[in-house]
Amino acid sequence: MTAARHRWGPKTAFLNKSERVCARCGLVKVTRHDGGATVISWVEYWRDCQRLAYRNTPPCPGARGAGEP
Ligand SMILES: [Zn+2]
Repeated sequence: MTAARHRWGPKTAFLNKSERVCARCGLVKVTRHDGGATVISWVEYWRDCQRLAYRNTPPCPGARGAGEP
């Protein structure tokens, strides 16, 4: 009950990636997939147009500004 979970919004699909935005803190989870014979996918986390150095999902700090409670 201590780990804050992100509230991911609907997935937005692009050609080689998809994005989901946390409705609480605005974190962007980008799932990239490299098209090719072998499909490779990896996840990046972005906030304020900067890529975060997390390899796993960072905790959700909660609502910022006028977010949901
Ligand atoms: Zn969040």
